[in-house]
Amino acid sequence: MALIVQKYGGSSVADAASVQRVAARIVATKRAGHDVCVVVSAMGDTTDDLIDLAQQITCDPPQREMDILLTAGERISMSLLAMAIDALGVQARSFTGQQAGVITDAVYGRARIIDVTPSRIAETLDAGQVAIVAGFQGVNTEANDVTTLGRGGSDTTAVALAAALRADVCEIYSDVDGVFTADPRIVPTARKLKQIGYEAVLEMAASGAKVLIPRCVEYARRFDVPVHVRSSFSDLDGTLVTKEDPMEEPIIAGVAHDSSQAKVTLVDVPDVPGKAARIFEVVAGAGVNIDMIVQNVSASGTGRTDVSFTLPAVDGKTATGALEAVRDEVGYSRLQYDDTIGKLSLVGAGMKSHPGVSAKLFHALSDAGINIEMISTSEIRLSVVTGAGDLPAAVRAVHTAFGLDSDQDEAVVYGGTGR
Ligand code: ASP
Ligand code: MG
Repeated sequence: MALIVQKYGGSSVADAASVQRVAARIVATKRAGHDVCVVVSAMGDTTDDLIDLAQQITCDPPQREMDILLTAGERISMSLLAMAIDALGVQARSFTGQQAGVITDAVYGRARIIDVTPSRIAETLDAGQVAIVAGFQGVNTEANDVTTLGRGGSDTTAVALAAALRADVCEIYSDVDGVFTADPRIVPTARKLKQIGYEAVLEMAASGAKVLIPRCVEYARRFDVPVHVRSSFSDLDGTLVTKEDPMEEPIIAGVAHDSSQAKVTLVDVPDVPGKAARIFEVVAGAGVNIDMIVQNVSASGTGRTDVSFTLPAVDGKTATGALEAVRDEVGYSRLQYDDTIGKLSLVGAGMKSHPGVSAKLFHALSDAGINIEMISTSEIRLSVVTGAGDLPAAVRAVHTAFGLDSDQDEAVVYGGTGR
C-alpha cells in the first residue's frame, strides 16, 4: 500500500463526463489499497476564460482580485470531482489551497510556496477518504489573502503536497503519455522517455517543453519527490522523473522548442567595462527574465560592439522601454527588436562527455537550409535561435539527426490544449 498524490490537468477534467472518468481512475487506485490525495486544475480553459472576463471589465485589474477570481476555477473542479467520487461509493472531501495548508509569499499572480502544513489532508487520508485539493492556489498568512502560483501551478501544488505528505510518488496526469523527445504536436515520431533526471527535465522545461513547469521540477528536485508523468486518457506507463542515474541517462534526452521568445539587439555599445552590467541591471530592474546573451568582441578599431539577448515576447515592451530610457547613458546607437524568432534546445545530461554534439546539430540545420541567428551552450543544453517560421522544420531535422525518431506511433496527443 502506497500514498499516492495524483494531479489532473485541465484537459483531463474538461467536462462532466471527463470528471466522472477521472473519478473512476481515482476510485480504482483507492480500491487497489492505496491512500490517494488528488490535486486538480480548473476545468478545460476555465482559467483563460476567467482572465478574458476580467479583461472585459478593466484592462488593469487589481492583482489581489485577479487571484481571488482565478482560484474559483479550481474550486469548481475540486468539488465536482469529490461529488463524482462519492457517487461511485468512495468517500471524498475537497479542500481549497488554504484549507490544505499551502502557504505562500505575498506575490499575487506568481506566489511561491513557502510551507505546506497539510494536517487536514492527513486526517482525511487517515479516515480512509480521498482528499481532493485545489491546485494552483495557496494563502499568504500575513494578509490572510488567497494567492495563485502562476500559470500551470497545479503541478507545483501536487509536488509540494507529495513532499509534505511524504508520498511514495507524485503522478502528474495530462493529455500526453509522458515526457517525449520532442513535442508530439510538432514531431509525430517523438519517443517517450522511460526515465529522465531532474536536471535534464528542468532544462527541457526551461527551454519551452510544456510537459512540466520549471518550478514544479525544482521543488521535486529539492525534496527528492519521484514524479510519474502520464496520461489520464490511457493506462500506459509514463515517464519517471527522479534523481540522475548515469546508467539510465540517455546522451540526448530531447529537443525542446520555444516560440514565445523575442530578441533584443543593442547596436554599437561602447566596448568598455560596466556597459553589460548597466544594460542587464536595467532589464532586471524592469522585472524581465532573460535567457541567451550574445556579445562579440568589438569590431576592429571601432571600440564598439553589439549586444543581443532573448526574453519572453510578452516582456518585449517593458524591456525595450526601459532600455530606450537609458540610450544616451549606455551610449548605444540603435535598438532592434525581433519577435519572429524561435528557440530550439537540445538537452541531455550525457552531452557534456560527448564531443561533436554541436557540430552534428549545426550540420542538421544547414542540411535543412536553416540559418542560425544565435547560439548558446551549457553543460547539458545547446540552444540556437532561428527564424520563427523555420522552427518546426528545425526541430524535426535535429530530432532525426540525433536518432531520436521512433519507428512506432508512440506519440498520441489525447487532449487539445497542451496542458
Ligand atoms: N488552472 C491554472 C492554469 O490554467 C493552473 C493549472 O492548470 O495548473 O494555469
Ligand atoms: Mg490549466
